[in-house]
Amino acid sequence: MTETHILEEIAELLAASRRPLFITGAGISAASGLPTYRGTGGLYADGVNEEGLPYEEVLSGHMLQARPELTWRELARMACRLAHARANAAHRAIAEVPHAVVLTQNVDGLHLEAGSRKVIEIHGNLRELHCTTCTHTRPAGDWERLPIPPLCPQCGAVLRPGVVLFGEPLPRLAVEWLEEELARGFDLVFSIGTTSLFPYIAEPVALAASAGVPTVEINPERTAVSHLVDYRLRGDAAALLPRIVAGAGARGG
Ligand SMILES: [Zn+2]
Repeated sequence: MTETHILEEIAELLAASRRPLFITGAGISAASGLPTYRGTGGLYADGVNEEGLPYEEVLSGHMLQARPELTWRELARMACRLAHARANAAHRAIAEVPHAVVLTQNVDGLHLEAGSRKVIEIHGNLRELHCTTCTHTRPAGDWERLPIPPLCPQCGAVLRPGVVLFGEPLPRLAVEWLEEELARGFDLVFSIGTTSLFPYIAEPVALAASAGVPTVEINPERTAVSHLVDYRLRGDAAALLPRIVAGAGARGG
């Protein structure tokens, strides 16, 4: 089957779908100029920071407590890169799909910027800072002007963004929302730009596959769910998703 035929089949499924789920990872934001994490040329490809510490240690909840300046330096770098990124054609295509639920590992906020409404940010986001000790919360504002680390104006403790650091639990509200949506079920599942190493990212694909619900993967490389999905597209999401969504629209979806 040619790529055009495959895209037409997926577009037909999307046109008929009433409960599509889009699972996304760093790869969907690559066309926005953001680096992926584990893929080829990814942020963690060489694995360590200037002091030779592994990124997974620098960006851990433990390090934020022990040496907040190291964690904050990395967070600020990440946030400053994100500050200049804009939603791309893949984010915008998903935002056009009626009833779409998005489950994203990205903390870049680009699905919301593109106009998607049901976005489960399972690793949190960088929009707000909150105190690690008291209840003080504020918008993050301009990351380039934040002191490293920023301190709480009320109690003097270190502030932190609402992102999930290594070794930390997932945000309770996001997990509960995901569980509710999974309980309602999906009739089409996309896995886009993620290596699916985390069980909560791979599981919805596995659940769909075992229930006979059609599954689609868009990722340049083979992933942990490639063997499960019905359709494997190895191209760029920013090129392929607009064609699928346009095709579904033409079928009255
Ligand atoms: Zn405080």
